[in-house]
Amino acid sequence: MGKRNERNELNDGNIIARPVVGRLAPSPTGRMHIGNVYAALAAWLSARSAGGRLMLRIEDIDTPRVRPDADRWIMDDFAWLGLEWDGDPVYQSQRGDLYDQALHDLRERGLIYPCFCSRAEIRAASAPQEGDGYVIYPGTCARLDADEREARLAAGKRHSWRCRLPRRAIEFDDTIYGPQRYDLARQIGDTVLRRSDGLYAYQLAVTVDDLTMGVNDVVRGRDLLRSTALQLWIRSMLTPEDVDSVHNSGDFGQQNASSGDIAFTHLPLIDDPHGKRLAKRDRALDLGVLREEGVSAERIIGYCAWLLRLVPEPAPMTPDDVLADFSWNALRDDHADRPCDLDALRGKTR
Ligand code: GLU
Repeated sequence: MGKRNERNELNDGNIIARPVVGRLAPSPTGRMHIGNVYAALAAWLSARSAGGRLMLRIEDIDTPRVRPDADRWIMDDFAWLGLEWDGDPVYQSQRGDLYDQALHDLRERGLIYPCFCSRAEIRAASAPQEGDGYVIYPGTCARLDADEREARLAAGKRHSWRCRLPRRAIEFDDTIYGPQRYDLARQIGDTVLRRSDGLYAYQLAVTVDDLTMGVNDVVRGRDLLRSTALQLWIRSMLTPEDVDSVHNSGDFGQQNASSGDIAFTHLPLIDDPHGKRLAKRDRALDLGVLREEGVSAERIIGYCAWLLRLVPEPAPMTPDDVLADFSWNALRDDHADRPCDLDALRGKTR
């Protein structure tokens, strides 16, 4: 690898270096919980250890789920924890023009189509994939003939916009989970980029944002590995001039897109004390409750550093203490999901 604070990129045959740009990307749907802090600490460490910038993006695109004031609680919690970011926060809700432009470009190039299916129709027509409940769109509206499609649009029939995914593989190298390969059509399927209620989908907003904000260091939960493949595909569709990120692969004669100059670090998930996935409704682990109980910022950071395998025991520490000795090696070696032990987090002996 080159210098740690730069990402190398090929441009006109010359290697050029770009500074590392990471992001904190909270959804303001409620108070943060310990799993959100764990991911934020990891993103902070990744950018700071590279001497890079860390942007704050408030992901408030799903307006029905946004809680008023949650953005301010989140920023207050980040400041209290010592996870500082650079520059002004960016709000997705103010970036509609960029998403409109992206959707327009994709539509002009025939890469998206209107989908008139209801959720129930899709569920009835598809089989869930890989046991995780992920539903692959069966392609019903991709097969509509052009006249029928135009007639339904002209009649004002409610529709979303889906991107058409080809039989092509996306490959990327994850910092923790190693080489990844997803077959777009078979494992992901045609995906909604604009919902039928007119809101932009997470997948489009995040791809446009990471691209336009110059983000090249993405750190988030392993539940988004599949989304990374999709986002890389959408990205390559939005930047068709980046031909060096699309190359031919011998396998199945398919063309592959690869991650080019972005680094991806996916993290094991944190379970609740009963071994179930942490959810925002688990109030016991939310920062409002922990702060009210008098649990210190250092204890929360030290616990998250332990979840990230960065320290042998959960002991109170600051983000700078964790940074001093930071490396992903231990997490790469052991990345089983971990339960959150409430007593250990609160500093009670186990
Ligand atoms: N807003 C998302 C979340 O809070 C982050 C998704 C991402 O990192 O791309 O889970």
